[in-house]
Amino acid sequence: MSTSSIWHQIQRQNFTRLDALATFLELSSEQRSLLLEDRSDFPMNLPLRLAQKIIKQTLDDPILRQFVPQIHEREFPADFTADPVGDLSSRRCPKLLHKYHGRALLLATSACAMHCRYCFRQNFPYESSSSDFSEELHAIKSDTTIQEIILSGGDPLSLSNNSLQSLLTSLAGIPHLRRLRFHTRFPIGIPERIDDELIRLLSTHPQQIIFVLHINHPREIDPDVLHALNRIQRLGIPVLCQSVLLKGVNDDEETMLSLCEKLINAGILPYYLHLLDRVNGSAHFEVSKERGCQLISYLQNHLSGYGAPKLAQEIAGEPGKTIIYLHSLDSLQT
Ligand SMILES: *Cc1c(COP(=O)(O)O)cnc(C)c1O
Ligand code: SF4
Repeated sequence: MSTSSIWHQIQRQNFTRLDALATFLELSSEQRSLLLEDRSDFPMNLPLRLAQKIIKQTLDDPILRQFVPQIHEREFPADFTADPVGDLSSRRCPKLLHKYHGRALLLATSACAMHCRYCFRQNFPYESSSSDFSEELHAIKSDTTIQEIILSGGDPLSLSNNSLQSLLTSLAGIPHLRRLRFHTRFPIGIPERIDDELIRLLSTHPQQIIFVLHINHPREIDPDVLHALNRIQRLGIPVLCQSVLLKGVNDDEETMLSLCEKLINAGILPYYLHLLDRVNGSAHFEVSKERGCQLISYLQNHLSGYGAPKLAQEIAGEPGKTIIYLHSLDSLQT
């Protein structure tokens, strides 16, 4: 069997039904009643290997909280919206967001290996799943200020190697593009996706490639994940990590320190710790800026300079992510 059919088969083993997952996790009927059935607009999608990392008989688990819909998603405080980061207003073409100078983000696909309940792009009106990027490629070609394309989505590694290959070939033909960035969470759910063919595609690409993973909790990292990522690192591709600060998942010193240590031990540099984007249904995940600053300052006091991520917030209309520093909070208060 080819490696790509292996990871497609693994993908079919995802938990998509709450009752099956609740049985697997040995949840009580009281716990089951706190799960949310009717999110057909953004249904549960949880890879088996992540489900196997969840502690049984409790809802108070950092992996469960990230992926399993709970009734809190029905709470919609006033300042939570469908598009908190202003993606729609930076849409240049159906699948191209151009918000910041020098880089543009290509929505390569709407599909992901897992559905993260706090995802700010869960309401994005993705077009058909067609992998035709002709309009987007034309826009990139005609704007020479764009030096870097970020492949995002969804998750760009949801694309087949064939589709990725044709996209990469088109991007390689644009002379002013210098860098290609993958924003992906796929290897955490299905590390088998980093297969021989993908490694071949990456290793022959003529532009600088950078990988930015999305990992929130140290338990998401294990030897299989590290092995897969190491294949990318051995190509000379820098691998970074961004996380979202989430209540009940990683909003304590011990968890964040352990996550950063695991990452830097594997040569993966912590890049951003994002404050939650206020998307509908995610209010129960919110952690304050002040608490975020406390955590970052703890990390800075316990890690090498490169080991602590920047605390970042996406504010619609700003020319880049807003970096939040302790001293800027002080000056706000005076
Ligand atoms: C976050 C983001 C980027 C990348 O920003 P960096 O600070 O370079 O990581 C680019 N485009 C869009 C639309 C984004 O949301
Ligand atoms: S993997 Fe990324 S894009 Fe996909 S649901 Fe999670 S946060 Fe959203």
